This record gives sequence, C-alpha cells and structure tokens, in this order.
Amino acid sequence: MTSSVPASIQDLPKTDLHCHLEACFRHKTLMEIGARIGKPVPADTATFRRDYLVAEPKESLEAMIAGFDRVRALWHDVPAIRRLTREAVEDAAAQNVRLLELRYSPDFIQHDRATPGFDEIHGAILDGISDAAAPIAVGLIGIIRRTLPLQEAGKVADFIISNADTFVGIDLADQEIDFPGHQFAELFERAKNAGLGVTIHAGEISLEESRRNVRDAIEILGADRIGHGLHIIQDPALIELVVRHEVPLELCPSSNVLTGSVPNIDAHPFRQLIDAGVKTTINTDDPALFGIDWASEYQLAESALGLSADNIRHCIATARAASFIDQAEINRHWPDAV
Ligand SMILES: [Zn+2]
Repeated sequence: MTSSVPASIQDLPKTDLHCHLEACFRHKTLMEIGARIGKPVPADTATFRRDYLVAEPKESLEAMIAGFDRVRALWHDVPAIRRLTREAVEDAAAQNVRLLELRYSPDFIQHDRATPGFDEIHGAILDGISDAAAPIAVGLIGIIRRTLPLQEAGKVADFIISNADTFVGIDLADQEIDFPGHQFAELFERAKNAGLGVTIHAGEISLEESRRNVRDAIEILGADRIGHGLHIIQDPALIELVVRHEVPLELCPSSNVLTGSVPNIDAHPFRQLIDAGVKTTINTDDPALFGIDWASEYQLAESALGLSADNIRHCIATARAASFIDQAEINRHWPDAV
C-alpha cells in the first residue's frame, strides 16, 4: 500500500518548526558548565535523567518544573548560551535536519538576574548559530509567556519586534488555562506589522478553554501556525476553521504523552488530523529535556502513529512551505525538493 520511509530515518531530510532552544543540551556540556559556575550536574545518567529530564511522565507538574529550572540555571552566561546554541544546531544538522526554527523566551533565560540582558542573550544565540556553520537553515522565534503581566509581556514584545531582522517569528507560550491570549492582541498586531510570523501555543489541553485559545489565536492574534492544537480533534467546527484558514499545526507527539496532553501515544490524533485535511508537521518541542531527538520523533511518527512514508514526506513539505525562514535561505541550505 505504501512504501516505508527511506531506508534510514537518519538520511531523511527533516524539519522542525517547534523546538525550544532552552530544552536543547548535551549532558556532558551541562556537566562542564555546572562545574565552571558552581552548580554541579550529576554524571550518573539515571540521576541526571530523574532530576533534570522529563523522559517519562512526572508525578506532578512541580517535578516537571523543577527539572526545567535546573536546566535553565545552566543557561547561565554568554559563553554557556553560545556553546549550547552551537551544539543544538550541530546536533540537529547531524541528524539531517535541514530546517530548524528555534524558539526561546528572553525573560525565561534571564530569569531574575540583571545580566546577561536580552541583547547579550540574543547576541550569544546568534553567535552560536554562526559558530555551528552547519548545512541547515535556522530561524529564531521569540516567545512571550502568557503568564507575564501585560507590561512585562510588552517589554519582551518590544525587544522581539526591535530585532525583527534577526527573529523570524513570535510565539505565545506557557500556561494556557486562565491566561487567555486576547489580552496580547496589540502586541501580536505590531509583531505582524513588523513582518514576523505568528505562532501560538494553543489547543494542547483537552479542555474547552484550550480549544477556545485556538480560535482566538486565529481570529484575534492572526496566527500563521498553531503550536500543538491537537485537541481541535474534538470540535468539528474548529477543525473547519483551521482547515479553511490553512493554518498548519506544529504537532509534537512525544511531548503530548510526556506532559499528559494525551494518555498514551495510541491516543494521539495525528492520523485523524491528517484525514480531516488539517495541515500537519512533525516537531520535537523539547528534545533533550524529553530524552528524544529528531530521528526518534520521526521514527515514532512511522512506527507508533501509523504515518505512511507519503504522510511523512507531506509533513516535511508542509513545514518547508510554512516556515517563517525566508524561502531563499531554505533553498540555499536545502536545494533538493522533498
Ligand atoms: Zn512548545
């Protein structure tokens, strides 16, 4: 009926539109940074996995956040940020990812410190991408967190918009419930007018409010893409809206299992979304944090989600067309048609 994906998933030219930079790291690098800055990181793999990763569903949200906070503390200064970014790009390129959109939250990396400032953080990330010198198109998306007070969100938006020449897009992320997106409408309108692509985390949770976030993202925030969005599957009218507006979903199957968005991989609606005519793409969300990588996520799409080789190629072509990175830049690194 269908051919299998190319002999090796490794060789398949891949895309990732939804990848959080802060969740990309090598264990060994975190150990070296930790030793340098006085925040030792366990060498033992099992301990590291337990305390720093979300490689299996956690017993509580607090346990998940604790791991992410430990990792965040190691994005400590300019040399660390520059190195971690370079290695993220190198690791993706080594798995034949040809198009990578990395997103990060300036205030999340900065946390409650005075330094490095947003400009230094951003500069270190740009330098890290340049250092990688890998055959891969890379674009940066700036994140506004839903949980920020509007004034703080405005400062982050101002930073992203004033750097519209080195960001390709803007995102709204973090806790969906109780933090509606419409209050940020003015910020996203300005970002769009500055030429930035708009992607919104929405529809990640099986609740009506989360589905409402998808509708608001499209109708109020001008979303070009939706991060996750899988739970539109329960609402035919919302599916119709997403299809009519041709808004691709950035699906991240492993993430959805590990955060409890779906109870298990068999319950993931990836195939039903394809069958409903929704534009879909395959993405990692938080690769190292989740103990996954690009090859494993594409392998999962084939083995557990039941996508055919044609489905997977179509997801890749959809991602290529929906990328916020300039198409000429993509073609420069990836001249072959999918
Ligand atoms: Zn995400």
